[in-house]
Amino acid sequence: MQQPKTIKEKHSLKRLNSWRVGGEAKYFASPSSVAELKDIFLWTSFYKIEIFILADGTNLLVSDNFIDGLVLNLKKLRTDINEIKKIQNSFVGEGEGDGDCDGDGDGDGDKNSFDCDKGLSFSLLSGTPKNDLFSICFNHNLQASIFLAGLPGSIGGGVVMNAGVGFKVQPKEFKDIVDYVEVLSFNKVSNNFKTTCYKNSELLWGYRSCKNWQSKDQNKNIDIITKVGFCFSKKEINKSAEEKILILDKVKQAQVFRKTKQPINTFNCGSVFKNPDGHSAGALIDECGLKSSSIGGASVSGLHANFIVAEKGTKSQDIFNLIKKVQTTVLEKKNISLDLEVKLMGSFN
Ligand SMILES: Cc1cc2nc3c(=O)[nH]c(=O)nc-3n(C[C@H](O)[C@H](O)[C@H](O)COP(=O)(O)OP(=O)(O)OC[C@H]3O[C@@H](n4cnc5c(N)ncnc54)[C@H](O)[C@@H]3O)c2cc1C
Repeated sequence: MQQPKTIKEKHSLKRLNSWRVGGEAKYFASPSSVAELKDIFLWTSFYKIEIFILADGTNLLVSDNFIDGLVLNLKKLRTDINEIKKIQNSFVGEGEGDGDCDGDGDGDGDKNSFDCDKGLSFSLLSGTPKNDLFSICFNHNLQASIFLAGLPGSIGGGVVMNAGVGFKVQPKEFKDIVDYVEVLSFNKVSNNFKTTCYKNSELLWGYRSCKNWQSKDQNKNIDIITKVGFCFSKKEINKSAEEKILILDKVKQAQVFRKTKQPINTFNCGSVFKNPDGHSAGALIDECGLKSSSIGGASVSGLHANFIVAEKGTKSQDIFNLIKKVQTTVLEKKNISLDLEVKLMGSFN
């Protein structure tokens, strides 16, 4: 079987994650359409090659060890900037059609028509940066622009992680704004494709997690979120001048908060650990005296203890070892287990 042109060999993953760490992948592909994605699936299935999914890499620790498989980068599977501008400037009730979840990406809304009360409805390809979603929401003076301000990564990664903020605001995470999610599933045994549309209510949303969109048998199937639909009601759009000013102020505050409370000009991956029930992971780490402790080029941030920052050239194994040290110390001193928010790609010692 001929290797699709989009597939490259021996590709470094360092520049593809926000910690700027990790080794090489045996194969690498960055498809810009669902058709290209399907060709890649068929080829990997033919040669029995494992697939690893990476979108914007802002929540991933990529191993230094060789990734013996194909790393599928979803960054190019994104909605065109002209389409983003069109949505930014569209009028209420003029979206691309509710619930266009038919896998053809033509925006005709001919299946699964969900009720969006003709406010603002649109869909974005999963690799689209969250910042594009922010600018659409901001242009329409939507309250959602507050939690989206400065949130890194892609739309698809936002759904998988149910990305959001800890401060009091509504909406505050992806669960609150997603209308539907379109998933392309590939059965590696039968080589069949299936496109499924999940309404928001069919998904199992949790704290930094979203479930129920993946096929049951993960040994036989691989699932990719290809598109996400959003819906904002008419009421949210028709705002008074005072309400608009309030949103603008809160967006500015959210931006200042990130700039002053997070080490944003460093290589990091945001919060490393989930906040345990009733606790702040950052405060626990701080109370255990771990702020600024380091292993190799990785150190717990002095500004925000739930961030691990990496110097240029840091090994991901150092970050991994620091994660283990933090988990062990917090368990010993506080009797609390810290679960990882960050996902791991590849093997660690
Ligand atoms: C400075 C900084 C600040 C941050 N602040 C926040 C914050 O305030 N709140 C917050 O929630 N997060 C925050 N994060 C973490 C991160 O930005 C989010 O979790 C983001 O949603 C991850 O998106 P991504 O595209 O980078 O996903 P990736 O890191 O590439 O992937 C994350 C996981 O999702 C899977 N995945 C991604 N896309 C798809 C898809 N289309 N189909 C199937 N699987 C997929 C990947 O396989 C992986 O398991 C921050 C990160 C940084 C670096």
